[in-house]
Amino acid sequence: MDATHICGICGALWIQWPDDSAGCPAGSWSLRSQKAGECCDNVAMGLQIIPLSEVDEFAAEVEIERAEAAAVLYADRIAQAERDARGNCGLCRHYRPDPEAGRRYFGEPNKDSGWCLNPAVPSGRADYPHADMLSGDWCQQFEARP
Ligand code: SF4
Ligand SMILES: [Zn+2]
Repeated sequence: MDATHICGICGALWIQWPDDSAGCPAGSWSLRSQKAGECCDNVAMGLQIIPLSEVDEFAAEVEIERAEAAAVLYADRIAQAERDARGNCGLCRHYRPDPEAGRRYFGEPNKDSGWCLNPAVPSGRADYPHADMLSGDWCQQFEARP
């Protein structure tokens, strides 16, 4: 069977078995490359293991090699995990969801948009009473909802 995943750190290719027809338990992993780094050999398969479908689509889009694309996506995943750990607008008590806030970026209402009602975060636009944010954005002023 062809590889299904790639490690974004060492570039090793892996198969995650969809079912047990090949004798491996469904969901288990087999190494498809000659070797793998400490990053994915006998450790938990986490953010470093990326579906090849995602990697190949991105690689084709920006015209780079598969391993390079995996490394870029891995860096994105780490950055996103850090942002998530820090908290984002959607989880902040200053955030008020409002699709209309998305008009400026999207040209139409957007379900992930809202306003930041924190006075310490200026709107930056005369015609906007509050800063328009996406629910996944974050800032230093983040305060978790009570
Ligand atoms: S911009 Fe900052 S203060 Fe405003 S909602 Fe987002 S995280 Fe909260
Ligand atoms: Zn690895």
